[in-house]
Amino acid sequence: MNNNSSLSHRNIEPEEGVLYIVGTPIGNLNDLSSRAINILENVSLIACEDTRQTKKIMSKFKIKNNMISFNKFNSFKKIPNILENLSKGYSIALVSDAGMPNICDPGEELVNKARTNNIETVCIPGPCAAIVALVASGYPASKFVFEGFLPKKKSDREKILTEISENQKTTILYESPHRINRLLEELKEFCGGSREIQIARELTKKFEEMIGPDIDSVINLFKTKEIIGEFTIIVKGNAKSQNEEFNKIKVKKDLQELIEAGLSLSAASKYLAKKSNLSKNEIYDLY
Ligand code: SAM
Repeated sequence: MNNNSSLSHRNIEPEEGVLYIVGTPIGNLNDLSSRAINILENVSLIACEDTRQTKKIMSKFKIKNNMISFNKFNSFKKIPNILENLSKGYSIALVSDAGMPNICDPGEELVNKARTNNIETVCIPGPCAAIVALVASGYPASKFVFEGFLPKKKSDREKILTEISENQKTTILYESPHRINRLLEELKEFCGGSREIQIARELTKKFEEMIGPDIDSVINLFKTKEIIGEFTIIVKGNAKSQNEEFNKIKVKKDLQELIEAGLSLSAASKYLAKKSNLSKNEIYDLY
């Protein structure tokens, strides 16, 4: 352990046998809190998603401490040993590469096991890309849905996209730069191109920007731009004014399904006209 009490935030010792879940910056290293610095400096051990990433933070703040790797590939093996050390009275900090551990990052299994084994857990909060982007978007933020990365399997993915298209609450999504165009096309298909959206790019970093205001304009802009950096996507809820467009998209999908199932265009349109507020002719036009 390192004892440097020259700064006030470094005076508080971590408690014995406690698992500290420590939030780290999502880009700007100055976002590391003084409480986090104190904990990282004084715990017995830091469990890091990637020790090379955590070293960058450690060297910026001149912190020296013991690190082990703890990631999605080795966490299963390492959890028993970490719990044993906590039970012996060692204090351990859990960090991911960036942001809050557990949020689309390793850690929840460890925290859960610690709690069920009566080990004390304390969260030292830091930035989380989802929350930073939500707040920066200006969309309703008091009730929201966080979906993280959409599943890869087509049917699971389409189920969530349908939920997003219908949901009146703001939705938050994570996506990598090389898949963002595909996600935007899917969002257009399910929610309509005029659905309001904000793409939070490179939050807290030098080239941070918010890109909007709707799916169509973001798709068009990305056709003219190299897409690099990290992205969090904020989709505004399905407002009443958007219901008409959404209804057409949904009827069109139902129509396709009925025709694929063997119904004639005429029979499918007649059936859907009874179930929706569109006329048979309007449904024909959709086809
Ligand atoms: N645990 C992290 C958190 O609390 O934000 C999230 C980890 S997840 C593996 C990484 C994803 O978060 C990225 O693919 C991106 O969607 C989002 N993200 C992380 N940093 C970001 C940033 N600076 N700007 C925008 N999105 C970011």
